[in-house]
Amino acid sequence: QGPPMIDADLRSRAAKVVPGGMYGHLNAALFAPGYPQFFARGEGCRQWDVDGREYIDFMCSWGPVVLGHRHPRVEEAAARQAALGDCLNGPGAIMVELAELLVDTVPSADWAMFSKNGTDATTQALMVARAATGRTKVLMAHGAYHGADPWCTPSLSGTTPNERADLVEFTYNSLESLEAAAATVEGDVAAIIVTPFKHDSFEDQELVEPAFARGARALADRLGAALVIDDVRAGFRIDLRGSWEPYGVRPDLTAWSKAMANGYPIAAVTGTDALRGAAQTLYSTGSFWFSAVAMAAAKATIETLRDTDGIAAMNNAGAQLREGLYEQAKAHGFAVNQTGPVTIPWLSFAGDADLSVAMYWSDACLRHGVYVHPWHNWFMSAAHTEADVARALEGTDQAFAETRARFA
Ligand code: PMP
Repeated sequence: QGPPMIDADLRSRAAKVVPGGMYGHLNAALFAPGYPQFFARGEGCRQWDVDGREYIDFMCSWGPVVLGHRHPRVEEAAARQAALGDCLNGPGAIMVELAELLVDTVPSADWAMFSKNGTDATTQALMVARAATGRTKVLMAHGAYHGADPWCTPSLSGTTPNERADLVEFTYNSLESLEAAAATVEGDVAAIIVTPFKHDSFEDQELVEPAFARGARALADRLGAALVIDDVRAGFRIDLRGSWEPYGVRPDLTAWSKAMANGYPIAAVTGTDALRGAAQTLYSTGSFWFSAVAMAAAKATIETLRDTDGIAAMNNAGAQLREGLYEQAKAHGFAVNQTGPVTIPWLSFAGDADLSVAMYWSDACLRHGVYVHPWHNWFMSAAHTEADVARALEGTDQAFAETRARFA
């Protein structure tokens, strides 16, 4: 294979017609130097960049691809709907079928509303909470990502202080801090929004303390506020019923997106009967929110995850990857932390505050055909077989060896 010419050419053309050449979370300039910006195709757990380099993919397009790229059952459902029409004067029957499927699958869901991106869903969930309570403030964890609208984007560029004024921050997993945050705006808390585990970029992930989850539920009840779980990132990779269901904690509202349709654009808010009336009062919509193809893909994705126990497959592959990486790191003399659920893993190097080791290692992984990320969690898919993970581990072993040589 020759040098990466096509990617380089596309980057220089993009620099002239796209601000910064690329923007947002897929901007390869933010990762290690060898990361390709442009991709040509994906199949199963593999992706190929525009220069033809093949990768075993542990980012899954940053979450959406949960069954593997171009999964036959999802593609067939999407194609069947596309042949009939996608964007029509009203939704297809598929909207009702998908809402029924979510209500049947998710115990905290008595209804569903659909949109496109995770940010639509988190924003819409907070609108429902505010409509229901007539209150203003939202408690959110410091450093948590809930999307890229002005109220929540991590960069303040282009936002006004007013757009952030209704957020009160607490420390994830600290009930004391959550209660203190609530006390500063006593009587005006519309919602507590919380991710199912702490998955902030640049730091080790943290599973939720069950007592924190239960305490957040109890506090929301005491305040008369809505407990909103932002399951955009973790949804459909931990528990199809909702990511806090294993702890017996049910939210009032849940935001879903990413893995819901195996890469087709769709998001949802689900909620309880008590909030149905408030949800009904919103004017919340979009030109493409009711497109039928993504809904057909979502129904096929959720049914396939259910029928094939896709989460168990991801757990197996994720456990194999985690164990293999631990053994290799140890053999090469690195202390590493592997955090988060094995279906949404991340690896960091101990003492690597400036991420230079992680940057070097992930770049080396790329050169050996394994796509991981230096500072954002990774994602497993149900398409990762034991053989795929074993093949990937050959690449990561070489990457550890090269990293050891570089940082000897
Ligand atoms: N919430 C969480 C927890 C997320 O991880 C993301 C996306 N990374 C969002 C919200 C926003 O989703 P989207 O990028 O689809 O708007």
